[in-house]
Amino acid sequence: MLTDDPVMAHSRLSVPMNLGLLHPMEVVEAVLDAYRSGDAPIASVEGMVRQVMGWREWVWHLYWHLGPDYTSSNNHLGATEPLHEAYWELDGEAVEAACLSHALEQVGATGWLHHIQRLMVVGNFSLQRGHDPQALTRWFTDAFVDGTEWVMPANVVGMSQHADGGIVATKPYAAGGAYLSRMTDHCGGCVFDPRKRLGDDACPFTAGYWAFLHRVEDKVSGNHRMGRPLASMRRLKDLEDVVLQERERSRF
Ligand SMILES: Cc1cc2nc3c(=O)[nH]c(=O)nc-3n(C[C@H](O)[C@H](O)[C@H](O)COP(=O)(O)OP(=O)(O)OC[C@H]3O[C@@H](n4cnc5c(N)ncnc54)[C@H](O)[C@@H]3O)c2cc1C
Ligand code: SF4
Repeated sequence: MLTDDPVMAHSRLSVPMNLGLLHPMEVVEAVLDAYRSGDAPIASVEGMVRQVMGWREWVWHLYWHLGPDYTSSNNHLGATEPLHEAYWELDGEAVEAACLSHALEQVGATGWLHHIQRLMVVGNFSLQRGHDPQALTRWFTDAFVDGTEWVMPANVVGMSQHADGGIVATKPYAAGGAYLSRMTDHCGGCVFDPRKRLGDDACPFTAGYWAFLHRVEDKVSGNHRMGRPLASMRRLKDLEDVVLQERERSRF
């Protein structure tokens, strides 16, 4: 995730495909042609075909498989908070966290973010802060240029918010500031410090990560993939202070 390169190597073809203007097989055939003519390496070709024929098709079939009540009947982590007002206003300046601010600003300007921004910045923030998954689904549907009904349940309710308790994804996609610091160039220019979990400049993602694990501990403790993160959380000597701080946090 780079401040000056919002698109990176992504195709932005979800829009014409979701609008029915471009058939997914046309994309796959074009990519295979590029491989046959020596214009694209096998790793790139495999990646693109997997996204379109693998992920997109899987999500489409999950929509029918999971059924019409999937979004309204799943809230495994008991998330009932309203979305932060900056979401609805698409106002990046309403938050100080550089990574989130940049993402919201970009949604407002273009209606599009690439997958990891959706999952690990916006989705991660909502997961940690306990945003209502149904409200988040509505927001993604309304705010994104590729936001169609069928693509939301598996991606938002399942993958991003773990609201189905593990039907779509085997564990919650939660991560702290250390991950975001490694994967983005936002932290250097941020008022918060990704290494800090306590204090005025404690990163809301770092502190939020631990407070999130504390809140959902009972609901995820049976998941073997959560064993190590939960053990790390239990070792934190300042956990109670972090939880209290995040409960009262007003600066994001
Ligand atoms: C929280 C969240 C919300 C999302 N919301 C949407 C949405 O509203 N509309 C949407 O089409 N996708 C959505 N996705 C999936 C994915 O992020 C987008 O399809 C992708 O970012 C679109 O950009 P692109 O066309 O440049 O994708 P590329 O990275 O170039 O990938 C190529 C194509 O693969 C397909 N694809 C890859 N992953 C997925 C996936 N998980 N689900 C469906 N198709 C996939 C898309 O058709 C995409 O155009 C969401 C993912 C998350 C985690
Ligand atoms: S310090 Fe925290 S809030 Fe700021 S950009 Fe890094 S991860 Fe985001």
